[in-house]
Amino acid sequence: MRIALAGSFAQLAKKAEQQKTSISVPKEPVENPPLEIYMLGNKVLRTPATRISKVDSSIRELAKKMLTSMYSAKGIGLAAPQVGIDKRVLVIDLDIENPATPPHVFINPEIISSSASIDTYEEGCLSIPGVYLDVIRPSSIKISFRDEMGRPKKMNADGLLGRCIQHEIDHLNGILFVDRVTEQDNLKKELKENGFSYKDVNNIN
Ligand code: ZN
Repeated sequence: MRIALAGSFAQLAKKAEQQKTSISVPKEPVENPPLEIYMLGNKVLRTPATRISKVDSSIRELAKKMLTSMYSAKGIGLAAPQVGIDKRVLVIDLDIENPATPPHVFINPEIISSSASIDTYEEGCLSIPGVYLDVIRPSSIKISFRDEMGRPKKMNADGLLGRCIQHEIDHLNGILFVDRVTEQDNLKKELKENGFSYKDVNNIN
């Protein structure tokens, strides 16, 4: 009985470990991240990404490389177009200092509904380092997506997670947070101070 129990615990532990390892990578920054993050002005950021028809090991491998690159840049979210890859994949981790918290991987994410209530929150982006500006967005959203095993899922998200998902889904559509900034004078100043050009903004307000 004892042995059987130990056996089943071991199996459960192994199962949990396998589930975790499918999308988990060390969170410590690496010297040579596997993927290069492109900056505002590069046209890869403006190309809408294509849907993934089959979630296989190559997609899981991509998510892992994206996570390592994101952790190395000390970011909390990264979309595949930011690393020049034309695929609808997002990775998010709001707890980058804690190795025990698993990240989020969203494949083919779609916003199904958005709240009427809105929030203003200061956003930044790994593709526009140094620039932090207020953006208005719905306070909460409902999304559909596929997980890293291709299983269809739905979830509600608000707070920082909801904000981050909306920012990253924009990337999949070639939209950057600076396109949504309403304060144009602040935007021009911040971009200039950080070496970016206002000409690369597509204001959608
Ligand atoms: Zn971004």
